[in-house]
Amino acid sequence: MKQLPSLDKHYINGQWVSSKSPATFDVVSPVTAKVVDQLSMGDSADIDSAVDAAKQAFPLFAATSQEQRVALFDRLIAAYEDSLDDMAQAITTEMGAPITMSQQKQTMVGLGLLKSMRQTLIDFSPTEKIGDVLVQKQPIGVAGMITPWNWPMNQVVCKVSAALAAGCSMVLKPSEYAPYSAALFADIVDRAELPPGVFNLVHGGARAGEALASHVDVDVISITGSVRAGVAVAQAAAPTVKRVTQELGGKSPFIVLSDADLSAAANSCVARLMLNTGQSCNAPTRLIVPEQHKAEILAAIKTAISNFKVGDPFEDSTDIGPVVNKLQFDRVNAYIQTGIDEGAKVLCGGVSDHDASRGFFVKPTCFYDVDEGMTVAQEEIFGPVLVVLSYSDIEQAIQIANASNFGLSAYVYGHNINDSMQVATKLQAGMVHVNDAIATMDAPFGGFKQSGNGRERGVFGLEEYLEAKSIYVG
Ligand code: NAD
Repeated sequence: MKQLPSLDKHYINGQWVSSKSPATFDVVSPVTAKVVDQLSMGDSADIDSAVDAAKQAFPLFAATSQEQRVALFDRLIAAYEDSLDDMAQAITTEMGAPITMSQQKQTMVGLGLLKSMRQTLIDFSPTEKIGDVLVQKQPIGVAGMITPWNWPMNQVVCKVSAALAAGCSMVLKPSEYAPYSAALFADIVDRAELPPGVFNLVHGGARAGEALASHVDVDVISITGSVRAGVAVAQAAAPTVKRVTQELGGKSPFIVLSDADLSAAANSCVARLMLNTGQSCNAPTRLIVPEQHKAEILAAIKTAISNFKVGDPFEDSTDIGPVVNKLQFDRVNAYIQTGIDEGAKVLCGGVSDHDASRGFFVKPTCFYDVDEGMTVAQEEIFGPVLVVLSYSDIEQAIQIANASNFGLSAYVYGHNINDSMQVATKLQAGMVHVNDAIATMDAPFGGFKQSGNGRERGVFGLEEYLEAKSIYVG
């Protein structure tokens, strides 16, 4: 591949510019635990420059036609397609996803979202009539975007594509743990020749994020991240009364119905959970099984997990790589220890045998005989850790599934589709998957309860960047 993108500059007003802040951040390989690069960390002065560029660019960009913006999507899609291999390398390097998964999923979701939002834009009407009243939907203004490291192109492109389709200019502050993919995305934007100032990128951490969220000239702030960061962003945004949208954590339940193909259900849950080394907001982490079928399902889980190969994410045969950083390595292991201390039984896995200096590899772990009140059944672990709870009747299964502060995704696996649909309608979650159905690029993506506010993807995502204006004519 080409060299990884350089991390010493922000992308502001169509130019790569040096940081006004001298602060740097160690980029650490999740595989070796060694420092491999330095990231320039922006602060409020860099955010000010970027927001200023976006503010200047907004009026002209907001006035572009839908056809002009569709043409812009065509250029972006072509530039993104030219960068697929580099993007996969960047993502595996920065956050440790297995390379085949980066190639097939992490990278392709960004491309899929660009294509999907292009179609949403073609189909979208910015005006509608309610009685005699004309309702116009107009771009809201300058958008601020704060993204995490776990599915970096998914989250960046969800936000950027919707804002571009709406006619907004924007400032992206990506995760300090996923800087290569973000810098490469800015390079893609540059090659697509977007008007200067429409898309700006400032690298940084919480300080830059807070400066963006609190900025008076930012009209909407969209964050994907932990509940902690989502709350901090909402608090920083409140004095300027800007719109806040939040895509936050999850602890998604997976209910196996008693008529299900039990081994298919176990395999489906384990595959979805392990896909990104357990680091997906919508991962099914609480498997809720009929008590009478528990033994059979546990046996199937044990086999499924043992078939996953943990190892170097740059090897094609690896299924599970390291977790992203030392913080997550320590956190996942601490949760596993807490599960043991609170009396959950270990089906497989356990605390890592080595310390973080040998790479951030954790053991895929499954707990069973878990009570819904245990820490491992309530808190988001964000690693390859599954907990199995059992139920005696379906109402109890639904009650356990809904007994969470989160409500992002939920999964139902059964033979009779009507029974599955009955359960699906009772689940408190923004997205419910019946059997092996996967999320599409244009249906609303987001959560109930502390999993967030607002929706991304498709027309629901587009509307987050629009203001409605009612024109009453006398
Ligand atoms: P994080 O909350 O640590 O960081 C997310 C982003 O917020 C980063 O860019 C970070 O620099 C920034 N940030 C942190 N503190 C901030 C503050 N005080 N003010 C402003 N910005 C701040 O999360 P993470 O570890 O990068 O990502 C994992 C979390 O993201 C998990 O909780 C996961 O469930 C969640 N997530 C949710 C979705 C979803 O769509 N609901 C998708 C992916 C990830």
